[in-house]
This record gives sequence, C-alpha cells and structure tokens, in this order.
Amino acid sequence: EDTLYLHVRVGQIADGLFAVFISDMSEQRRFEAMRRDFVTNVSHELKTPAGAISLLAETIGDAADDPDAVKYFSGRIAKESERLTELVHRLIDLQKAQSAAAMLNAERLSVLSVAREALAENQVKAESKHIGLALSVNGRQVPAHADAGELAAESGQVLDVFVVADRETIKTAVKNLVENAINYSPERTTVAVGIGVENGKVAIRVVDQGIGIPAASLSRIFERFYRVDPARSRETGGTGLGLAITKHCVEDCGGTIAVWSREGEGSTFTITLPQAPDSQPDPQSDEARP
Ligand code: ADP
Repeated sequence: EDTLYLHVRVGQIADGLFAVFISDMSEQRRFEAMRRDFVTNVSHELKTPAGAISLLAETIGDAADDPDAVKYFSGRIAKESERLTELVHRLIDLQKAQSAAAMLNAERLSVLSVAREALAENQVKAESKHIGLALSVNGRQVPAHADAGELAAESGQVLDVFVVADRETIKTAVKNLVENAINYSPERTTVAVGIGVENGKVAIRVVDQGIGIPAASLSRIFERFYRVDPARSRETGGTGLGLAITKHCVEDCGGTIAVWSREGEGSTFTITLPQAPDSQPDPQSDEARP
C-alpha cells in the first residue's frame, strides 16, 4: 500500500542532451487497486446470494412433494432475493453519493424535520427490538415524531437549525446512522439523535448504547464493504456499504463525519455541516416576493 511507483522516462531533448522525466504513479496505482478491489467485492457480494438462490431452487425441485420443505426453501429463496435487492439499492445509493450530483438540488433545510423523517423511517425496526428513539435540539428534548399540530405548537419554542443541502442526501446519511445504531444495539436500549449548533457549525449526533467498535477497526469502518463482524452484519441485513455511503453524502454537502466508540459501551457518530447563511428566512429573497 505504501509502495512508491515511479515512472521514469529518458528523452533526448537536443543533440547530445538527455533529460530524465520522473513521475510519481503511486496515486494512480492505488486508485487502480482500489477500483479492482471494489469490483471483486461487488462480484463476490452478488455471487453469494445468487449462488444460494440457484442451489435452493434446485433443492426445492427435488422436495416438491414435501410441503414443509417447500415452505422452508421458498422462505430462504425470498430472503436471499431480498439480500440481492438490498445490495443493488445500496450500490445505486453509493453511486449517487459518489457522483456528488446531490448538491444540484441544494435547498435551505430544517435539520429537525430531516432528523424526524430519518427516525420515522426506522421506527418499525426500533420497535421490533424495543429500542427507544430520542431526539433533542440544542440539548432540549423534543418529540421524536410530531404530527402537524404538534409541530405548529412547537414552532417558536424550539430553535431549529438549518443547513443548505439536498434533502434526500442528508436524510440518507442520518437514516443510515440511526439504522446502524439500532442494528448494533441490544434490545431495550435507547438511540438518541441530538442536533444543534456547536462552534458555529451544525452538529447532528447519533448516540447508541450498543456493542461499540474495536479501536483497531475505527479507522476502517467508512471503507466500502468493511465490517467488523461479517456474520453479524449479514444477520442484520448489512452490506458493509452504509457508512461509505453516509460519508460520501456528508462530504457532498460540505460536511465531515467523525466517530467515537468504546466496545461494550456504545458509539457516537457526529455529522458536522456548515450552517445555512441566514437562520431566519430572508424577506428580501425572490421566494418571499409575490
Ligand atoms: P453494515 O451494512 O455492515 O452495517 P456499514 O458500512 O453501515 O455496514 O458499517 C460498517 C461496520 O461498522 C459494520 O459492519 C459494523 O461492524 C460497524 N458499525 C457501524 N455502525 C455501528 C454502530 N453504531 N455500533 C457498532 N458497530 C457499528
């Protein structure tokens, strides 16, 4: 990985005058190697469920007169197909996040509303593990989901925070973090999302009381297909792409992502984004004009 690749050319630039051109190809070589690894990983990840499906289909053919066996094998086929679909969706998400086209649809966003959407989309998953979802703005607890009425009553009391970004991109990032927090936490714990302004920047924090991440793995978890425990990740439907997608999403929006974690204690992922230039709607803006 740290090997230096030099491309050396010797050329004659005038009669009897030679020059040596040296260029550092290490970056390109590393990039090429990464691309190759990625293709290998994708093929492997796709081949596993695809292979399982054809094997199961064969088996089901042999067991056609045993209804219990048919039920069992068709269930397994359905699960493996789900896995394939999930993988393809994740690859598309990754492609989108990597293309950085996200910022073409940048708008002024309420971070509170995006966080609520991300939590709502994980509600069923959280309930299935009896995990509580909590939400706070600048340290003040607010309902994790609010209907329109509650939201109206709330406005003016809660100081929301705003960013300029593509809604779907930010939502994908927060949603992935909440989903991981649930996946890697034991039952009856809490996943808390905290949003606020810190040092002039918007911070979105996802805190869990889960299994944590070994110190040695912390620097690798944002890599595509990296998993601390592949078996466990597969059990929860993980693809190893979630955090890679999340990191790209955050960086597309001009932000950064950081992680703190201790095994057996839990993890905290923090997204930091530039604050929207004005915290109040600008009455002079074109939008405000009739
Ligand atoms: P996966 O689809 O496997 O969850 P991710 O890219 O989302 O892939 O995460 C990479 C790995 O980082 C996971 O397999 C898991 O080992 C670890 N991880 C991510 N989030 C958490 C968390 N909140 N708590 C503990 N481990 C986590």
